[in-house]
This record gives sequence, structure tokens and C-alpha cells, in this order.
Amino acid sequence: MKHVFGPISSKRLGQSLGVDLLPSKSCTWNCVYCQLGRTQRFVTERCEFFPKEEILAEILQAVETREKIDWITFVGSGETTLYKGLDWLIGRVKQLATIPVAVITNGSLLSLPEVRRELLEADAVLPSFNAGSAELFERIDRPAPGFGFERHVEGLRQFREEYSGKLWIEVMLIAGMNDSEGALRDMAAVLSTIRPEMIHLVLPTRPAPEGFVAVPDEDRIRRAVFILSAAAPVVHPAKGEMALDSADNLLETVSEIAVRHPLQERELEAALGKLFDGDHSKVHEAIAGLLSSGRFEKVHQGDDLYWIIKAPSEE
Ligand code: SF4
Repeated sequence: MKHVFGPISSKRLGQSLGVDLLPSKSCTWNCVYCQLGRTQRFVTERCEFFPKEEILAEILQAVETREKIDWITFVGSGETTLYKGLDWLIGRVKQLATIPVAVITNGSLLSLPEVRRELLEADAVLPSFNAGSAELFERIDRPAPGFGFERHVEGLRQFREEYSGKLWIEVMLIAGMNDSEGALRDMAAVLSTIRPEMIHLVLPTRPAPEGFVAVPDEDRIRRAVFILSAAAPVVHPAKGEMALDSADNLLETVSEIAVRHPLQERELEAALGKLFDGDHSKVHEAIAGLLSSGRFEKVHQGDDLYWIIKAPSEE
């Protein structure tokens, strides 16, 4: 499938079927931690990048053929709300699949009334918020010109006024950047004015384009949970667990995920272990088969090894 991947197991959304609406990488920001690499060229104009009927057909096919799906999640190769026509897709999915819909977004376009309107039917919207000051926002999220801090915060506030679904703010906590007491208090102060239902702390555990990006130690994570709790309940970060529901088309299934989401080798081995009922020889055979396709390369991030899709020029 071209647009649909997973389901991936996550603490926040259970078994989540990912739907990617964008050509890679299309974004209004260039975050230091982006798992898709640096933004080569900002995209700021909204567009129906792929026919919505084509995307809907893939979603419905996945819902019929793949196991347990708790959420259908619009997310992917850049800023999700750059896709024009989200309201049509959300409405049709809810009507035909009766599975709740979530949208993961950086929130940069929420200042536009049409974007806020297109998201109203989503059951949950998860915008990013990584800094409580303009200076830190510029350093972490490195937005396109015209997409400054005030615009971001104002968009989030306006959306909260109009949206009655679940607003779950996602905070990427980065060592040495936004994990100081001052930075966290600034964030809590602004978040109090946005009034999300919940704050999800996430960590930059996947390969990042900038070498200085690192995961804070446990003490700093606990302090972040404590300080941000002044604005809303905080979900402590936990690594999602990947699930594979069938050995059929394993190469395609793993490729669909890895193209958007670097795969931790340990997670992949654990998922294969579950799939093959702990049969190590089958797990090794599957790993060898996947690697022999030549589609993946392994990269180190901290102490972990990740699989990513090889760049086309390297194939
Ligand atoms: S908003 Fe998301 S896709 Fe865009 S640069 Fe940041 S992390 Fe990457």
C-alpha cells in the first residue's frame, strides 16, 4: 500500500493504523529531532497531494484485512494538515469504518480557519509544542519564515476554543534544550492558556538529523512530568511496542513502517518473536530475508540500532 502502514502499537493510541497523506518530506518546520531528516525545502501551501478516493480505498481495505485497529491515525512524511481535504477523509472514515480517528500534527497551520474547521470531526488531535519562548521555538523547530512562535501559540489557543474533541499536546523533550527548569516552567505557563486534556511527553529515541539531539536522563524526565503537570495531566514517555500480525508480505509490511518510522532492531526482533511464538530460528530466518532484500540499512542512535530504508541513490 502507498499510504497506509501498521498497525503500530503505541501507548497513546493502542493499535494504530497509520495513514500518510504526503510526499516525503513536506513540512513547515525543520525540527532538530525529525526522524525524516532535515527539511530540504519548506512546503507551506496546502494541497490535495494524492486523490482522496485512493487514500480512502486503502484505509478501508486495511480495516477489512488487518487485525485489531484501535485508531486510524493521520500522520506521516511531514505536516499532516498540509493535505487539503482532511475533513472529507475524516468524515468518510468515521462513517464507513466506525473506528476513532486521530490526527498528529505540528500545529503550525492551526492559525488558518479552514484547517481548524477540517479537523473538527477528528476524535483526537495531537499537536506539537516544544518550547515556551520564541527563542527556544526557533532553535528546536526551525520553522519556515512567517511561521513564528506567536502564530503557533495563537493557532493552538483558537483551535481549543472551537474543538470539542480530545486535544493531546505532544512535547518532545530534548536534553540540554527544553529540559531545564526555566524552559519547562515557560512551557507550562503557555500550555495552561491552551488547556489541553493531556500532555504526552515523547523522547528523541530515533535517529535525528542533528548529532546534539539526546534523550534526557530519568531525573530530568521526572522533573518535566512534575512541572508540566501544572498545565494538564502528563503521560510519562514509554516506548511503543511494535506488532506484526501476519508473516505474509513481511517485507512490504516492514518497509511500509520503516519508510516513515525508523525501526528499533530490538522492537523488530520482539515483534517477530511474538509472531513466530518464540521460534528463534524463524526469527533469524525472517531477519536474514528482510536484510537480503537490500532495502534497509542499519544506523546507530545512542546504544540502539535502527533500521531505515536506504536512500534511492544507494540502491
Ligand atoms: S514537524 Fe514533524 S515532520 Fe516536520 S520537521 Fe518537525 S518532526 Fe519533522
